[in-house]
Amino acid sequence: MNIDLLKRLCETPGIPGREERVRELIMKESEGLFDEMRVDAMGSLICRRAPRGGGGSDAPTRVLLMCHMDQIGFYVRHIDEKGFVRVQPAGGFDTRNLFARKVRVCTRENGDLLGVMNPGGRPIHIATEEDKKKIPDIKEFVIDLGLPGEEVKEKVTIGDMVVLDATLEEMGGKLVSQCLDNRLACWVGIEAIRALENSGDSHPCEVYVDFTVQEEVGLRGARTSAYAVEPDIAIGVDTTLSCDTPGVPDDESVSKQGEGVVIGVMDGSMIGDHTLVEELESVASSREIPTQRSILPRGGQDGGAAQMGRSGCRAGALLVGLRNIHTVTEIADRTDVAAYRDLIASWIPTVE
Ligand SMILES: [Zn+2]
Repeated sequence: MNIDLLKRLCETPGIPGREERVRELIMKESEGLFDEMRVDAMGSLICRRAPRGGGGSDAPTRVLLMCHMDQIGFYVRHIDEKGFVRVQPAGGFDTRNLFARKVRVCTRENGDLLGVMNPGGRPIHIATEEDKKKIPDIKEFVIDLGLPGEEVKEKVTIGDMVVLDATLEEMGGKLVSQCLDNRLACWVGIEAIRALENSGDSHPCEVYVDFTVQEEVGLRGARTSAYAVEPDIAIGVDTTLSCDTPGVPDDESVSKQGEGVVIGVMDGSMIGDHTLVEELESVASSREIPTQRSILPRGGQDGGAAQMGRSGCRAGALLVGLRNIHTVTEIADRTDVAAYRDLIASWIPTVE
C-alpha cells in the first residue's frame, strides 16, 4: 500500500476554493494513468482514460468517479490590533473538537505560518462554573501566531487559507490523519487506476476520474464537472461515518471498521441506483472483497450532484468508514482501504 502518497496527500493543505496544491500533487502522481487531463473553470481536475483492449463500441459507457480534493478548513476573517486572527469556517466543524489545536496559516507571500487556535476565555484555574459548561461558537476562536500585531498584519491577508496542522500516522492496523476525508479518496482515485493499469485488464468503458472542488460546502465542483462529463454512471468516492465506538448505539454506527468497503445505499444527497449497488456487490463477492452497505441519515457526497445533472445518470457511492470524522484524528482501517482500491479496480473492467 502506497502510504507515502497518502501521507503527502494528507499533509498538503487544500480547503474548499483553495485546492490548487492538492491538484498539483495529484497531477504529478497520476502521470501515465490517463490519456487526458484538464482543469475546469472552478478548479476540478478531470482525468480521462479511454477504453482499453479494443472491441469497444463507438459510444462506450462513460463512468465517472468523483473524489473531492477539499478538506474542511478556514479562511482568515479578521486580524485585530494585537495580531490575533479570527476565522470563517469552510465546511462542518464541531467546535468541541477545536480546542488547543495547532494550525497552519497559508499566506500569499510569506509561506505557511504555524499558529495555535483556542477559544478566547479563562483557563481552568480561574474559569467560572458557567465558563466550564459553555461550548464556544466558532467566532470565539482565535489564532495566536506568536508575532506582534504589526507583523501579523504585514504577513497575513484576509482570505488566507487556514488548516489544522497534523501529520498522517500509522497506528496498529489503522491510519490516522486530519483529512482522510477526503484525501483517502484522492489516493484511491490514483491507486485504483494504477492497479487497473498494472493488471493489464481491458475495459470497454471510458473512465473519468474527477478530482472535484468545494464538496464540503455543498457538492459545488461536482455539479459543474459532472455536467461537462455527462456520465452514464457516476460514483461519489468518499468517506463516511464509522461510529462503532463507545457512546453510540449500534443501530447508529452507519458503518463498521474492518468489515470492508462501504457501498452507500442512501444519504442526504442521493438514493443510489439499486442495480448498481448489486452489481458492485456481485463483483466484490466474486473477488472475495469484503463490502458492507450503509445508510447515512444526513450529509451527502458528490454522487448526489451528478445524479441530478443534465438528464440524470445512474449514481452510487463507494466509501470508507472513518472513526472521529471531521476531527484531527480521523481513523481508517487498512483492510477497508485495500478493499476500496480493489473493488474499484476490479469493477471497472466489468462495465459493459
Ligand atoms: Zn468527504
